[in-house]
Amino acid sequence: MNKDEPAITPPAADGFDAPGFPKLTVPYPAHNENSQLHFEGFLPRILAGMSSFHADMVRHHQVEFEQAVIVQCLLQVLMTKGYVNKEELDAVFPNMARAVEEVRAKQITGPRSASLPADTPEPTDLDCSAHHADCHAACCTSFNVFLTSEEAASNKYHWDVALPYRLLVDERGTCVYFDAESLKCTIWHDRPLSCRKFDCRTDGRIWEDYGKRQLSEMMMNSKARIAAARQRAKKAAQEAARAQAELEAAQADQPAR
Ligand code: SF4
Ligand code: SF4
Repeated sequence: MNKDEPAITPPAADGFDAPGFPKLTVPYPAHNENSQLHFEGFLPRILAGMSSFHADMVRHHQVEFEQAVIVQCLLQVLMTKGYVNKEELDAVFPNMARAVEEVRAKQITGPRSASLPADTPEPTDLDCSAHHADCHAACCTSFNVFLTSEEAASNKYHWDVALPYRLLVDERGTCVYFDAESLKCTIWHDRPLSCRKFDCRTDGRIWEDYGKRQLSEMMMNSKARIAAARQRAKKAAQEAARAQAELEAAQADQPAR
């Protein structure tokens, strides 16, 4: 590092604290060890998020520009043919501008909301623990969960800066609040609305036939991929342990000075 460059201080484990920025606190520590929560992993995610916002802005500006050109063309034609004149346009402009502004204000809703209709009931008779042997908590290990505007603003949840406002997942795509040992949600009583209202029984992505405990083809493939990846990881860990033992044995055999 150049001696003139300011030193970079990694954020505290429980939040990101930088001069000029509000202190972000996360009351629920992620259960999993997740590299994205450490500075080295977090910075690229921030940059990816900014890049995604920038790409979105450029796209929207391009669309707005094209629409403005089309409207100008139409006006030109209408005025040339004598259907409208400039005075008439100037008279209706303020009212039209106000109406458009009102529509726009409603569209800018901030964080992406959960896509569930507001009146979706919360399933109260779904016994997840009875199905874990079959489903392996597919909902927490395979799906994207987006926070509502209120949840994102509450600053209670880890969300993915590269894909606002999706609950943060680990490198395998599993929600960071999922406990792989017990197959349980570590924030069950405070889980987001999307999780509260999710009912897998009618979701064809999970069950081919819920009554017969028959998983969908997509889930079967996903389970097979996970099992194969676990097998590969286990083999790699065994080989690494063997190599480490050989290294230690070789070092122990070195003659003393
Ligand atoms: S909601 Fe469905 S898929 Fe998710 S853990 Fe419960 S039974 Fe399994
Ligand atoms: S918050 Fe809990 S219920 Fe929701 S996806 Fe994560 S582990 Fe599952």
